[in-house]
Amino acid sequence: MNDYYSRPWLVSRKYSAQDTVINFGNFKLGGKNPPVIIAGPCAVEGRQQLIDTAKSVKEAGAHILRAGAFKPRSHPYSFQGLGAVGLDYLAEAGELVNMPTESEAVGETYLELVAQKCSIIHIGTRNGKSFELLKKASSIAQQYGKPILLKRGESATIWEFLGAAEYIASQGCLDIILCLRGIRTYENIDNGLKRYTSDIDSIPILKQLTHLPIIFDPSHASGNRSIVPALSYAAILAGADGLMIETHLNPENAMSDAPQQVTPETLAEIIKTIDQLVGCVGKGT
Ligand code: PEP
Ligand code: MN
Repeated sequence: MNDYYSRPWLVSRKYSAQDTVINFGNFKLGGKNPPVIIAGPCAVEGRQQLIDTAKSVKEAGAHILRAGAFKPRSHPYSFQGLGAVGLDYLAEAGELVNMPTESEAVGETYLELVAQKCSIIHIGTRNGKSFELLKKASSIAQQYGKPILLKRGESATIWEFLGAAEYIASQGCLDIILCLRGIRTYENIDNGLKRYTSDIDSIPILKQLTHLPIIFDPSHASGNRSIVPALSYAAILAGADGLMIETHLNPENAMSDAPQQVTPETLAEIIKTIDQLVGCVGKGT
């Protein structure tokens, strides 16, 4: 049991019936605003790569540039990201195309650096239960006036996911973007057909429970670029306020998450179709 109903959580609809809207200046995320698209490579691989990618995702109609500088890899000898210099490249590319940026803080040590260099502090799935990190992220987010994008823990129940968001809210930061990114079930039995199991049904459930904006990440949810467009449409029609889509200029040769990244051309196609489905995407507000 949890105390969500007995004691209204700050993230709950009981606390605020009104949707939380995050204002990025040229566009807004949440409420009745058109879907916001976050796009960019899994990892920063180099300065020019990021500048070129930034230009093409902007051209495709994306709003926010993503790229990991510190990568939380399951194995220590896999590419770990470029580190701090990657955040500099991201900041430079974002500025060049006039897009807000987001990148993951993989540990408490990196929170301040990410808050200084990026527009959004991203907390990844593996830190869904790092309660001290969640609390510290809240203080740093407020100190720098930045929102937090919180991914669902890969094995987190809906209550555990909301609990993680409440840890952030309890320390004062209510500018939280919830990001669904698939959960772990029987993928191994399916022999690599998919990486996680998409949790699109959690979108309307969370919409009933929380006023926070909810976005969906079809890239990690599937691990399979061939189904990223279908999942994107399903998530938007299920009520997602936006999408996070890993996009790479040459996906097959990406240094991390190669099977799930789409090309800028596919991204443009997805955005165009969503525009036809619900209107206004890619145009800001
Ligand atoms: C990412 O978005 O780069 C990432 C590592 O995602 P997740 O935490 O969902 O695995
Ligand atoms: Mn990735």
